[in-house]
Amino acid sequence: MNIKNKLRLGIGFLFLMALISSGLADYYLTRLSNDSKAILKDNYRSLVYAKNIEQALDYPKTVTTATKMQTIDKNIYQEEHNVTEPGEGPLADSLRSAFETYKRLADPQAISEQSTKIRGLLYKIMQLNMTAIEHKNNVAAGTADGAIIIVSLIGSLCFLIAFSFVVNFPGYIANPVKELMHGIKEISNKNYNKRLVFPAKDEFGDLAEAFNQMAAKLDEYEHSNLASILFEKRRIETIINSMNDGIIGIDDKQFIIFANKVACTLIGMPEEMLTGQYAPNIALENDLLRNMLFVEQSKMKIFFDGRESYFTKDVLEVTNDYKVIGKVIILKNITDLQQLNDAKTTFIATISHELKTPLSSIRMSLKLLEDERVGGVNNEQKQLLQNIDADTHRLLQITAELLDTAQVETGKINLNFGSTHPKNIVNYAVKAIRSLADQKEITIAVDCPDSLPHVMADLDKTTWVLINLLSNAVKYSPEKATINLNVKKQGNAIEFSVKDLGQGIDPKYVARIFERYFRIPGAEADKTGTGLGLAIAKDFIEAQGGHIGVESEAGEGSRFYFTLDINKTE
Ligand code: ADP
Repeated sequence: MNIKNKLRLGIGFLFLMALISSGLADYYLTRLSNDSKAILKDNYRSLVYAKNIEQALDYPKTVTTATKMQTIDKNIYQEEHNVTEPGEGPLADSLRSAFETYKRLADPQAISEQSTKIRGLLYKIMQLNMTAIEHKNNVAAGTADGAIIIVSLIGSLCFLIAFSFVVNFPGYIANPVKELMHGIKEISNKNYNKRLVFPAKDEFGDLAEAFNQMAAKLDEYEHSNLASILFEKRRIETIINSMNDGIIGIDDKQFIIFANKVACTLIGMPEEMLTGQYAPNIALENDLLRNMLFVEQSKMKIFFDGRESYFTKDVLEVTNDYKVIGKVIILKNITDLQQLNDAKTTFIATISHELKTPLSSIRMSLKLLEDERVGGVNNEQKQLLQNIDADTHRLLQITAELLDTAQVETGKINLNFGSTHPKNIVNYAVKAIRSLADQKEITIAVDCPDSLPHVMADLDKTTWVLINLLSNAVKYSPEKATINLNVKKQGNAIEFSVKDLGQGIDPKYVARIFERYFRIPGAEADKTGTGLGLAIAKDFIEAQGGHIGVESEAGEGSRFYFTLDINKTE
């Protein structure tokens, strides 16, 4: 039976009990009232009539006989019409005939005797009615006792039922609700094994069934979901572990989430000691992790796999809904590429070196051919010889540059130090760039005071760097722009700076601008560059103990600068 019907039945039953007890009370009260009315109406009045007749018989002489007779007659008449008890009728008749006789008597003796007779009859009537009153009173008392017993019984029954209802019903509703709440809490704590058992076939039973179905479905979903997530996790772990690169995952609070085998070997710690640890704490004692976390440098030389290995560092941010939730640091093993690169550099160095001697001898031979004393050449031949000379000159320059690059790449830069005034470097560079600047009608505003001290520098290489900076400035400046070339003293060094008002450099690329082969993605000005110029410039300046850098903002232009030590001996 459902709860609604149970409630209806319980409250309906209580209502019925209340109705029955009030009906019974009403019935008994009516019966008692009727009994008392009967006593009053039937018997009490007869007693009053008899008493009135007795009083009239005893009237004093002052009361007239007519009044006396009238009173007696009237009361006998009323008694005759109030006969209620068996035997009362003949007594009333006898009273009437005795009174009729009494009225006719004149002798006082006879009147007195007749009066005694009437009193005797009145006594009998009174006796009869008093006995009846007593009997009826006993009947009414019996009715009252019966009423009290029955009403008490029904009242007690009602009380017991209501009491058990009040005691049990709240629990009947509240207990399943409490158990349901407990079940919901268990489910929210991911205990999907929780089940409810309500044996009653009511709404709570249905609720338990629905709850159990939901928990079973969640359990099923959780297991299938968990299985697929675990499968994916293992797959990704296998891929990550089989890679030749070191990979470390760090969450947004800097705790290490995972590290693959290569990363563990490189860092020199087992995975169990890394995962779950606060990365900056480990970085305190681990140089490599410190470099990975805090140093901008993207290329690292690490002893790995029994040899000197080269790694590049890439940091990928992991985002969720545009919010950074961690990062993945990848150390890419580029040792093989580096070896190929070294081989290429050695090859270029050898070739350019080997080419230099025959090219120089070709130029020598050309000079001899041009000499009139060796033999005359016609104008056409002269022109051809000049072309060959120009091409050979170009070839020699290219080989020299190739040799420079090779030197830089192998770290064997040959420096030709000497004391020189900054103006010499500036003049050479400006002269070399003049024609390029003129093509775009660009003005180069030079500020290089004569009062500046000499610097210790390799004149050729420093000039090469300044030309490179100036040619970039020209390349990335609009037509008719002005480029500022300033030289000033800064502490113990001289700073050369080239400032243009061109497109500038996005801050995110500033740190990488001096990397080999790096070119800003999508930069418009020149598609033919190699991305080597600034890298070589950096190597040349740092080889001389100087520092090179850039200050720039996209759209605002750039200021490239480098420093060289002052020659203190001058
Ligand atoms: P490239 O041969 O490509 O010019 P560089 O090493 O000289 O190589 O320059 C590297 C990159 O830096 C260039 O591709 C260019 O995107 C950027 N760059 C260099 N100088 C400037 C400048 N003055 N203004 C804007 N971008 C520059």
